[in-house]
Amino acid sequence: MRSFEAVQRYFERAADELELAGSMRTLLIRARREVQVQIPVEMDNGELHSFIGYRVQHNRARGPMKGGLRYHPEVDLDEVRSLASLMTWKTAVVDLPYGGAKGGISVEVHKLSPRELERITRKFVDEIHDIIGPDNDIPAPDMGTDHRVMAWIMNQYSKYHGFNPAVVTGKPVEHYGIPGREEATGRGVGILTLKLLGRLGRKPAGTRVAIQGFGNVGTHTAKYLHEADCKIVAISDTTGGYFRKDGIDVAGALHYAITHDRLLHGYPDAERITNEQLLELDVDVLIPAAIGGVITADNAAKIKAPLIVEGANAPTHPDADDILDAARVIVLPDILANAGGVTVSYFEWAQNRQFYSWGLNRVRQELEKTLTTAFESVWDLSKERDVSLRTAAFMLGIGRVARAASLSGIS
Ligand code: NAD
Repeated sequence: MRSFEAVQRYFERAADELELAGSMRTLLIRARREVQVQIPVEMDNGELHSFIGYRVQHNRARGPMKGGLRYHPEVDLDEVRSLASLMTWKTAVVDLPYGGAKGGISVEVHKLSPRELERITRKFVDEIHDIIGPDNDIPAPDMGTDHRVMAWIMNQYSKYHGFNPAVVTGKPVEHYGIPGREEATGRGVGILTLKLLGRLGRKPAGTRVAIQGFGNVGTHTAKYLHEADCKIVAISDTTGGYFRKDGIDVAGALHYAITHDRLLHGYPDAERITNEQLLELDVDVLIPAAIGGVITADNAAKIKAPLIVEGANAPTHPDADDILDAARVIVLPDILANAGGVTVSYFEWAQNRQFYSWGLNRVRQELEKTLTTAFESVWDLSKERDVSLRTAAFMLGIGRVARAASLSGIS
């Protein structure tokens, strides 16, 4: 099943619960605009290479469209389309005044020099500057992109449209960024994991957690939960998994990764396992925080964790979701679990427009407040309607977007 079809399954389930009319379903499921561009770039060795870039603008009923830019070899139009629609539901679940979009380039970032990465990014902006903008579509970091890439986007955009830092979020703090954006997604995953444990009457101390992916989301989730006294027993990245029954020394693993090309390869203080084995560990909480589609109908029944918190976007296939649901595994869905990033991006965007900025403590407090409100609404709706947290989150998001679309008038 393709990525977009998978999101559509979740959408239809929630739309049925909402008894949404067929015409509204069609309006909400389709993307507003899909753009594919060619990005010809001269590489450092003098050869010409053509990359393909995408930007999908899904829905703008609730405000300017918002969503990350992913640089990864598996990026294609179907994946970007599905991620763009998830952004529409995600921004609505946390009640931000945004719609959803997503973009990406199919590229192996690790094989690029910094100058090549910059040239590709600037060329991409040359192709899409007319359709993005602070009141229209605001990119942000995702897999393979970071604050440097966002600074290049802001600079390149300004060459066409003048100074406008609010065109992109996730910028460097010293260059119109906001303190706390870099950690926000992982911190949000951590905050919501604790909320979920609390609702289930469980204490964080000693809770065994396995985290797949040790990039932006995975590392900040690990740090937050480690500081909250959880025991991070397994971590992983593209080089495989690392397990330690008594708990990984998170600061040590982070230091190791930073000094080894951001990879855990050769990390000595843990037992080697595979990424597949990590998913099936006997832990209390499993947090997929790398790529999508890792929990499938083939491995869902082997998952022993009673709680899954989706740090990554779309890590669970709908068939797997049915198996987990039947086994009473509680899944905190991506559109809520990893919404911390877009929430702090919203703070950054709002402050760019006012030339005013908050300190880190205020950002953290407001992040927790926003996520807690969304969590409570989703939890209550799931109890009230006797549906999974995923269906409740989709219902909340879709309901809000459908109301905005109707109120603004469709014709
Ligand atoms: P990142 O590029 O910083 O890190 C990705 C991590 O996953 C790296 O450790 C990488 O080695 C690992 N990885 C990649 N492919 C893997 C594979 N096949 N198996 C195991 N590990 C693999 O990316 P990120 O920003 O941390 O994003 C991770 C996930 O979180 C993505 O699904 C992304 O869409 C989602 N997300 C990110 C943000 C954000 O603010 N960065 C916000 C919301 C959602």
